[in-house]
Amino acid sequence: MTRFRAGAVTDKGRVRANNQDSQLVIDGRLFAIADGMGGHRGGEVASALALESLAETLHEASTSALRESLTVANEVVYSRASGDPELRGMGTTLTALALVTSGGRERLAVANVGDSRAYRLRGDQFEQMTEDHSLVESLVRQGRLTVEEAVTHPQRNIITRALGIDRKVEVDVWELAAVAGDRYLLCSDGLFNEVETNRIAATLRKLADPTDAAHELVRLANEGGGRDNITCVVVDVIDGPGSAAEEAQRVGTASEPDLGAYGPGPSTTPVPVTSSVFDDAPVAAETGRSSGGTPPDKGDGRGPAPLIGAIPDRLPDDDDGESGSPGTSTARRTRPRRITWRVVVFVLALVALSAAVAGALVYYGRNTYYVGLGAREQVTIFKGRPGGFLVFEPTAERVTDIRVADLRATDADRVRAESDQASLADAEAFVANLCDGGLKAGADPRECKGDAAATTNTSPATTTVGAP
Ligand code: MG
Repeated sequence: MTRFRAGAVTDKGRVRANNQDSQLVIDGRLFAIADGMGGHRGGEVASALALESLAETLHEASTSALRESLTVANEVVYSRASGDPELRGMGTTLTALALVTSGGRERLAVANVGDSRAYRLRGDQFEQMTEDHSLVESLVRQGRLTVEEAVTHPQRNIITRALGIDRKVEVDVWELAAVAGDRYLLCSDGLFNEVETNRIAATLRKLADPTDAAHELVRLANEGGGRDNITCVVVDVIDGPGSAAEEAQRVGTASEPDLGAYGPGPSTTPVPVTSSVFDDAPVAAETGRSSGGTPPDKGDGRGPAPLIGAIPDRLPDDDDGESGSPGTSTARRTRPRRITWRVVVFVLALVALSAAVAGALVYYGRNTYYVGLGAREQVTIFKGRPGGFLVFEPTAERVTDIRVADLRATDADRVRAESDQASLADAEAFVANLCDGGLKAGADPRECKGDAAATTNTSPATTTVGAP
């Protein structure tokens, strides 16, 4: 006889104002999570409604009954959304794990709609058991995107299936062997968008108690940013008749969405399954917020608001909230943009580069001298570039009393040429050289007698003299 031990935690995260995830644990036979969408109250209503419907309608331990229950849940959410303007457009993902009987043996069934996930840890092997119903996942399956590209694709928020969006929904279903020692994790995207797969697996290996493991996973997601609601249901198979040699069997649809200009994708043919009578186990559904969470902040309207529509022929370049015409089962959920360490490093590098360039420009524009003529035709030492550089105008460092008329023609031309001097000392040496041999006969400036009173010191910081 198959037995389970489970732990479940849901948390609104660090950014969302309310929790639109819900969870369901009916010990011994059924475990599920749902991630609602639809701003204001819609998301939390959709996810709770879907799980309540699942708990109420699944009375037969069969894979087909599980799939039918998700179909009914879809109708329940759809009709509620259609009848209430405040809830119009709401929808939800749903991922469920149930004990079923198939061919006279107890087995496990996994059902999925949307991009919440079921993982299985078996020994060292950790694998995702569900396929995301998202645009990028479809493009990856068709070979049009790599897995790496999908992680950062601007349209990764578009999901291609959800409960409550259309009258009908296709449900993926798998049958798995019930193997003692296996550990299952059902989780919303608030976990795997914040915590790397390897870390999720390591946590599940490390913590034996399923409730401890669920709490730790939620803590890690919050540590990673907590930008979405986080829900984790960890289910241990304590005893079961199955063996690891049995392969998982897909028994439900996995048809691809219409990808518009991306073209149709491959589809799989549903495999009929046998059904049997379900044990009449008592139902004690627990939906919504749980021990690890914070009560939802209802009615603030800041939850993820879905935009429902067909995938456009050409996808926009960014998460701009437009996803085409309404009326089909494609939903986009808003997720906060993620600031990664790469972004931080890039911004810091950009700031450092900008500062270095600005420093180099200031150095080039100001850290040089030249000797030229001032406004009154006096030989003057200037700081800066002749004619100025960008916003840096040259400033008079020292005005001498040597007039251009005092200089011989060749030396007057040397001054007018305004040649660069590497330093103030070089500029002073240039002026001294004029005194030593550049003066006309009879010229007698005090500058050349070493008379300090003959020169005028100006403050380069406050005096600006236009270059002649
Ligand atoms: Mg989510």
